[in-house]
Amino acid sequence: MAKTKDRRPKTQAQLTTSKQPRSRIGYGFDSHEFRPGIPLKIGGISLQHDRGLGGHSDGDVLLHAITDALLGAIAGPDIGALFPPSDPKWKGADSVIFLQQALKRVREAGYSVGNIDASLILAAPKIGPHAMKIRARVAELLGISSDCVGLKAKTPEGLKLENAAIAHVVVLLEKIAARKNRAHRNR
Ligand code: MG
Repeated sequence: MAKTKDRRPKTQAQLTTSKQPRSRIGYGFDSHEFRPGIPLKIGGISLQHDRGLGGHSDGDVLLHAITDALLGAIAGPDIGALFPPSDPKWKGADSVIFLQQALKRVREAGYSVGNIDASLILAAPKIGPHAMKIRARVAELLGISSDCVGLKAKTPEGLKLENAAIAHVVVLLEKIAARKNRAHRNR
């Protein structure tokens, strides 16, 4: 009888040693509620507003969605599993820490970030005037250029979600060796 292929999920260690795809896609989603009296941080940037985003950490909805997209791309544990809200260690934590830990896992798995694309959905404040600054900060954190960070902001038309901020993010990872080889071939 012909052997059937083993389709059981692999551990992260097995993934890093098995034949890896040249690229991987990841998707992340997050939402937080606005609360008065706390600072607002989006994409690692502090924005002037009368309310901030609640949450156990600093509530940075965009960095959380990017972190989950990175972890999803390597089929890793999600942000809640790595940094549980029940752990007092993460109370008020800078979400940059979460993103950096996810990025470390991405690199350990043999990948680097190609580009990301994000959509923010919130009634206020307007993101347009801050978009360049947010893109630059996210690019710096991910080690890519600003033109590899897409950022769109939408208002929640018809959703009745005026008191929430939502982020959707997709990320493309490229195998590190594959990129090096391509650079070599293009010389
Ligand atoms: Mg969150």
